[in-house]
Amino acid sequence: MTHADTIAAIATAAGAGGVGMIRLSGPKAAAIAAELGAPRLRPRHAHYARWRDHAGEVIDDGIVLWFPAPNSFTGEEVVELQGHGGAVVLRQLLAHCIALGARQARPGEFSERAFLNGKLDLAQAEAIADLIAAGDTRAARAARRSLDGVFSRRVETLAEQVTVLRIHVEAAIDFADEPIETLGGAQVRAGLSAAQATLAELLRDAERGRKLRDGLHAVLIGPPNAGKSSLLNALAGSERAIVTDVAGTTRDTLRETIRIAGLELTLVDTAGLRDSGDAIEREGMRRARAELARADLALVVIDAREPEAGHAAVAADVAQVPRSLWIHNKADLLADAPTLAPNAIAVSAATGAGLAELHERLAHIAGADAGETVEGEFTARARHVEALSKSREHLAAALAQLDHEQLELAAEELRLAHESLGEITGRMTADDLLGRIFSSFCIGK
Ligand code: GDP
Ligand code: ZN
Repeated sequence: MTHADTIAAIATAAGAGGVGMIRLSGPKAAAIAAELGAPRLRPRHAHYARWRDHAGEVIDDGIVLWFPAPNSFTGEEVVELQGHGGAVVLRQLLAHCIALGARQARPGEFSERAFLNGKLDLAQAEAIADLIAAGDTRAARAARRSLDGVFSRRVETLAEQVTVLRIHVEAAIDFADEPIETLGGAQVRAGLSAAQATLAELLRDAERGRKLRDGLHAVLIGPPNAGKSSLLNALAGSERAIVTDVAGTTRDTLRETIRIAGLELTLVDTAGLRDSGDAIEREGMRRARAELARADLALVVIDAREPEAGHAAVAADVAQVPRSLWIHNKADLLADAPTLAPNAIAVSAATGAGLAELHERLAHIAGADAGETVEGEFTARARHVEALSKSREHLAAALAQLDHEQLELAAEELRLAHESLGEITGRMTADDLLGRIFSSFCIGK
């Protein structure tokens, strides 16, 4: 697919910088460069030029690079103009490129063209954005691996397994009247189990990759006055949350992001969970429950002096979250060290006692989920995890249909499993599959 129009955009960050770059992609890119004052470009060579407007006035000078199609980032003709990194001068140059026939690019349009021209698949195109947005070295390395196709190749390996299964099952349907030696129910079932195992592993790694990209979402909950805001402040090392003696003052949700074991941990402080007649407080609790619904981890803060009451107040809400850590706060007010459950810890937000251990526990949870230094770790998105989960459901359904000897229905489930995988890379099409089916079975009748 080639686009008729030429797009242009400032490719470097907004604001002042030593160097600023404008990127052009499309059939007119080199012609526009020529009009600007850079004719007779040699492919992939740096040319010095002075770029002039219609009146012949110099806008700026710098380096011009020409990448003829298809050997460019987008697969189209690409020109890069590297000049001075000032916002005004770059906007002037961009406006002039547009006057010469280019169009302002939409966000992500260069990557989109690269995808449409088969230079990148969808997951790789997404990894570009993740690499740029990466908050630390670990996330950047993982995004770089996704961009290099580490994730995509694993999806494709799995898609390959599913394709082979589809070929067998669909052949069995089409040629039910003839014996097909390659088809045995046991063989298909074994292949399906193998695909399920591959998928389970990939899903686990993609989920880890999603956490690496999005961070771990932890929510602080507990009865009013247990010390949630104090603890958030102690962990975040600031005085951001409002701490008061009046029960029920944290009415809104406050959030802080801390970094533990290379993972971003978003801590959300919520209004205390308790029955209240106060409308504002009820709204706070509604928000608290909404935060809980999407949390990976509940940090349950209770008053160490009355753990049973604390437990009773929040147990039902905590049960919705995949994992929880019970924090008995105000341990400084206890005469003796309490006996605690394995997923509980005693701390004092006031004195700082136990905070180091809390930090360690959080690191362990983050690390246990994220695998501290995982070889081949890649970033993934919620969209990818959802697609893999959908695919897993369809594979399970396919197996169930095979057990009932419902070949058509099994084939349909396999098709859907395949389609879900295709959503990740955006690569697989029906034609693709048809091609595979026809080339691997000689149907000469
Ligand atoms: P929240 O309603 O759960 O957010 O509780 P706050 O953080 O607002 O704290 C409620 C009250 O308990 C405040 O007066 C805090 O100073 C006090 N407090 C919090 N943590 C501790 C602690 O570890 N020890 C003691 N003695 N008091 C604490
Ligand atoms: Zn509070």
